[in-house]
Amino acid sequence: MPTYSDALESYVRQTFAAEDEVLARIREQITASGLPGIMIRPEEAAFLQFLVVASGARLALEIGTLGGYSGTWIARGLPPDGRLITLEVEPKHAAVARAHFKLAGVEGKVDLREGYAQDLLLELASVGPFDFVFIDADKEGYLAYLDWTLDNLRSGGILAAHNAFAFGGKIADPSNLEEDVQVIRQFNQRLADDRRLVSMLFPAGDGIVLAALRG
Ligand code: SAH
Ligand code: MG
Repeated sequence: MPTYSDALESYVRQTFAAEDEVLARIREQITASGLPGIMIRPEEAAFLQFLVVASGARLALEIGTLGGYSGTWIARGLPPDGRLITLEVEPKHAAVARAHFKLAGVEGKVDLREGYAQDLLLELASVGPFDFVFIDADKEGYLAYLDWTLDNLRSGGILAAHNAFAFGGKIADPSNLEEDVQVIRQFNQRLADDRRLVSMLFPAGDGIVLAALRG
């Protein structure tokens, strides 16, 4: 029987990851606006915020904004002069996210850039190095995002990537050869094997794989 049950998940969520009214509204409005309800769960988001605060990050990057749910949690963890650059290819998602960053009062800290992440990242190389990078967009791009991040993360910086369990646990089925699952498997393994990194997988929600770049 898995130790981390639904009951424990709700305990953790209620105790450590309670949404205030703003976050609850953002979550509701994402689906009400017709966007897919694929934002991270509150306990995953609270964990990212914890990492941002604990690592003293000032410059953060997110790949995959959707409606600004994870971005709001990350931005709230940054100091007043900190900055989150977040990348989104769908104009409709970007518009909803912009409204949500305003609603949360974090619009001054958030720089939302519209376009294909791989194009936008070319320009962002000169903005870094980044203290914190959260990858949560198209799985096709994950390995390229990883390469980019390893070149643009400061020593001691943190990389986090969502869906490390591959959509509800497909990662644990070796016979699953779906393209996206194979990419995530390679991504996780690369983090696990890279001696420049200390890595771990946060096993809540759909899994967040983490790596800290050694100093
Ligand atoms: N991080 C968000 C969820 C992101 S969902 C949250 O937890 O709140 C993934 C998002 O990545 C979608 O909005 C999708 O449009 C965007 N996306 C997919 N491929 C992309 C690409 N190549 N470049 C930029 N954004 C992309
Ligand atoms: Mg995701």
